[in-house]
Amino acid sequence: MFSFEISPEQQQLKDLAKKFAAEEIIPVAAQHDRQELFPDVVCRKAWDLGLMNLEVPKEFGGPGLGVLDTILILEELNYGCAGITNALAANGLAATPLLLAGTDAQQRRYLGQLANEFTFAAFCATEPGAGSDVAGLSSTYRQVGDEFVLNGVKHFISNGTVASWYVVFATRDKNLRHKGISAFVLPADLPGIRTTRMKDKLGQRAADTAEIVFEDVTVPRSALLGEEGQGFRIAMQTFDRSRPEIGAIAIGISQRALDEAAKYAMVRQQFGQPIGNFQAIQFMLADMAIDIEAMRLLTYKAAWMIDRGASSSIVSSYAKAFGGDAAVRITTDAVQVFGGYGYMRDYPVEKLMRDAKLLQIYEGTSQIQRVVIARDLLKQR
Ligand SMILES: Cc1cc2nc3c(=O)[nH]c(=O)nc-3n(C[C@H](O)[C@H](O)[C@H](O)COP(=O)(O)OP(=O)(O)OC[C@H]3O[C@@H](n4cnc5c(N)ncnc54)[C@H](O)[C@@H]3O)c2cc1C
Repeated sequence: MFSFEISPEQQQLKDLAKKFAAEEIIPVAAQHDRQELFPDVVCRKAWDLGLMNLEVPKEFGGPGLGVLDTILILEELNYGCAGITNALAANGLAATPLLLAGTDAQQRRYLGQLANEFTFAAFCATEPGAGSDVAGLSSTYRQVGDEFVLNGVKHFISNGTVASWYVVFATRDKNLRHKGISAFVLPADLPGIRTTRMKDKLGQRAADTAEIVFEDVTVPRSALLGEEGQGFRIAMQTFDRSRPEIGAIAIGISQRALDEAAKYAMVRQQFGQPIGNFQAIQFMLADMAIDIEAMRLLTYKAAWMIDRGASSSIVSSYAKAFGGDAAVRITTDAVQVFGGYGYMRDYPVEKLMRDAKLLQIYEGTSQIQRVVIARDLLKQR
């Protein structure tokens, strides 16, 4: 037995996020995109309203929401702007390893900081030489007495220049691949850490994306997350939990693209009638609606499984891969419905297309999701 109804509390959260997107995000989205402005003012307002750090447990001062609640909120915020929402939601990716493997002291300190102070955190796995192949990362750590010393370069890190703490993945011996990797949680202002914002992205341009250099960064043993050698597992379990959230971003961007395209189709006249009268346009809109409904079902199912403590890895990959690929199709078709005007920055759909492309890349590319799915399929034979 299952129900497609959301609770009155979830509806309230959705309404709050929808209102926030309409009043605080949409009016400033184009400017943030063009000027690559980091949205600290918008994030501050979101933090004040409780729209950041959604899954931080109540005992540390957070709202303690579930993954499905988070998805309902993210869908609405991303309807406004995926770049701005990336900035205010990336704390969730950094918080997840702590939720999964943090000690009480680590959770109290770092998750408590997110809940009680307006601040950011970042999840640092990707390196210039290791993206899809997380087990091939080459940032190192070595033990010196009771401390660890970290060296290496991370890049493409969301909120990297604004974060006050990081979760960092490093290896004690690259030859050990996934078995050598450990995860650490550490303040961002330690000596030896340097950050640079990586500018001029195609889309989600309001978001902060950074290169971070770690040069002989010394941390106490208490910075270790989980046991030594568990870092790879922590990273993968984090992605199992976070990938449905990419599905939610896809829903938000795609719903906006459909709404904009449908509205335009009813007002744009060609051959003496609205273009929405042409079956070619109607079918594009209908295909968008079908894809959006399918992404909702996959994404909600993955979130529902996680909230019940079920193993969600494959369904999370379905939601991420389908959502990312469909969002690129939908936003490209929205540009098509707008014709030449869609190609111009005066209309919102070209931004949606640029923002959507990232969904096929981060947190495991669309190809990597298929690798995960196919490996599971073949394992069962
Ligand atoms: C804006 C932005 C924000 C990001 N935020 C973060 C963040 O906060 N933290 C973080 O750690 N990372 C972050 N990333 C990094 C992101 O997760 C990686 O870019 C992504 O995992 C892909 O890695 P890569 O760019 O090195 O591409 P590569 O791994 O080099 O992939 C290149 C191509 O090869 C394909 N490919 C690779 N291996 C295989 C295979 N086995 N089978 C089939 N195809 C394959 C890929 O699908 C892709 O098409 C971010 C990236 C961007 C662009």
